[in-house]
Amino acid sequence: MSSQSLGPKLIAIGFAILVAPYLIAFYLSLGPVGWTVAGVSIILIGIAVSLRESPGYDDVDRLERTNCDACGSRIDADADTCDYCGAVR
Ligand SMILES: [Zn+2]
Repeated sequence: MSSQSLGPKLIAIGFAILVAPYLIAFYLSLGPVGWTVAGVSIILIGIAVSLRESPGYDDVDRLERTNCDACGSRIDADADTCDYCGAVR
């Protein structure tokens, strides 16, 4: 079973070994300002990605919206009546 997932890992490791020297040379040539820009960029990307992938983000959305019991449309969870079919909840 482990041999099935070994292939992609080896490809990834080989790719990293191939690219790493060029990346290091590139970053070393950037100087302090380049390092700062690169670091801030990575931090911002990380924040954006973690916000998008955060499960809490989805949970809040799920709590505020629900399906209408009568027609199944997405409506506000605290709405008294359905916006689409008018069914009283
Ligand atoms: Zn409805």
